[in-house]
Amino acid sequence: LTREEPNYFGAGPALLPTEVLQTAAYDLLNFNSVGLGIGEISHRSGPATEVINSTKQHFKDLLDIPDTHEVFFMQGGGTSGFSSIATNLAAAYLKKTGKPGKAGYVITGTWSKKSYEEAVRLGVDSVVVCDAKKLNGSFGDIPSVEKWSIPDLKDTSYVYFCDNETVNGIEFPDFPFEKFPDVEIVADMSSNILSKKLDISKYGLIMAGAQKNVGLAGISIYIIKKSLLEQPSDAEIKAAGIPLPPIAFHYPTVVANNSAYNTIPIFTLHIVDLVLQSLLKKGGITFQQELNEKKAKLLYETLDAYPTIFNLPVAKAVRSKMNVVFTLKDTSLDSEFLKQGEANKLTGLKGHRSVGGMRASLYNAVSLKSVELLVAYIKTFAESHK
Ligand code: PLP
Repeated sequence: LTREEPNYFGAGPALLPTEVLQTAAYDLLNFNSVGLGIGEISHRSGPATEVINSTKQHFKDLLDIPDTHEVFFMQGGGTSGFSSIATNLAAAYLKKTGKPGKAGYVITGTWSKKSYEEAVRLGVDSVVVCDAKKLNGSFGDIPSVEKWSIPDLKDTSYVYFCDNETVNGIEFPDFPFEKFPDVEIVADMSSNILSKKLDISKYGLIMAGAQKNVGLAGISIYIIKKSLLEQPSDAEIKAAGIPLPPIAFHYPTVVANNSAYNTIPIFTLHIVDLVLQSLLKKGGITFQQELNEKKAKLLYETLDAYPTIFNLPVAKAVRSKMNVVFTLKDTSLDSEFLKQGEANKLTGLKGHRSVGGMRASLYNAVSLKSVELLVAYIKTFAESHK
């Protein structure tokens, strides 16, 4: 079972290492020679429990996750994460303080905005700490912390941000909350988890949908500070006017059942584990981070070299290493750029429908060779349209 190596820059679902899919294809038929496919066995059977435990352990190894934090998996993706975060963390804060708190949202692009809107929609008391679009006129930069409206941290249940805004191509260059050591920080890392080294101890919760850097759609990864798994009873949560977390997304229940309270998509999780194993073999996060930096530098430098042809809407300091967003100055050339790209077997370059233009996603599985081919194409295209 094989394929020609794709040069695919789609934003998600995204490319996975071919060798992972080859192993997964075999395991779908006959896993560990048990005569059944991995997706056919019970999610509470021995082999399934091994997959869950192995995936957890590999996350711990790769990200150096301390004992203060727990790893778990749930059905769903980033959007179900938005809802589960708002409800579970509101309940955890009630347990800790005896009173409901306020959630603070840092809005730097499409996904953090959606997450804030979902918290409000569910009736979780939430405030905007920073709205980059309001402050800057567009989602092209991250306003400095001095410009944020910091809520009273005494009453703040958590502060939420999206570390990499996939649509807008904006990534936080550093952990932005050094000044707030007393508040729980929640990060959506759906599009950049495992792309760089992290100090997990700084986070209350990290949530990531799997389908960009770590696997297929259908499963999401959570790394949570264990103290945030304490929640009051349902009656106490209701009495405080906080919406109850749905049971399949109730973190304490999911963790108490080792991520198998309900039917976890075990094939999908197995693919995550294969991705992690492949990354560990290649040299782990240090290897991946260096490679990602190299790929992003190469592409941004090439685009920057043709300022009359390309426009890069994101401020240099916050340019994403995962999603390189650019537009053609002459938008009438958009379809030619995409068509010629496809003729060169470079696919998935169309920008998100809400912002237009182009987007080259350089997730972990995108090789340096693919980026070199893209850069060569961009140079040829730009030279012929000067
Ligand atoms: N958060 C980020 C950063 C994303 O990029 C996406 C999807 O692209 C989501 C959340 C939403 O994920 P899902 O489509 O899995 O709900």
